[in-house]
Amino acid sequence: MSTLPKVAVDVTPESRAFWDGLARGELVVTWCEACDGHVWPPRDRCPACLAGPTTTRVLSGEGTLYSYTVVHRPDPAFAEAVPYVLGYVSLDGGPTIMANVAGVPFDRLEVGMRLRLRAPEGGADGPVGGAVFEPVPGEDATA
Ligand SMILES: [Zn+2]
Repeated sequence: MSTLPKVAVDVTPESRAFWDGLARGELVVTWCEACDGHVWPPRDRCPACLAGPTTTRVLSGEGTLYSYTVVHRPDPAFAEAVPYVLGYVSLDGGPTIMANVAGVPFDRLEVGMRLRLRAPEGGADGPVGGAVFEPVPGEDATA
């Protein structure tokens, strides 16, 4: 049930909107207007149709757990957080992204459960880490 510590991220011009969005508690993805679809990971040109530049869209912040694993042998940067959950979260209207899943006991994790982006600790001025998802209230597997 651990959340991962904040670590320095490699922010590129293409990924800046995503990281800035996370700091505000929003999921921002790059979008191809020509294909009318998301572009993930963030890029300034669509890899499918080569149109560009891409734009951005703010998603709802909710999604569905596609798959997950409980990590016991972590990257050294996350050694004090074990055990923790890494999951693939299929975002509503967007891509499937890897993220930390917290706030639910391991034995209550279920593929298909509804999740939402957790508000950033420290607010918009706090340190930026990876996306952390938690169960949607009322659809919580622990309820
Ligand atoms: Zn496209």
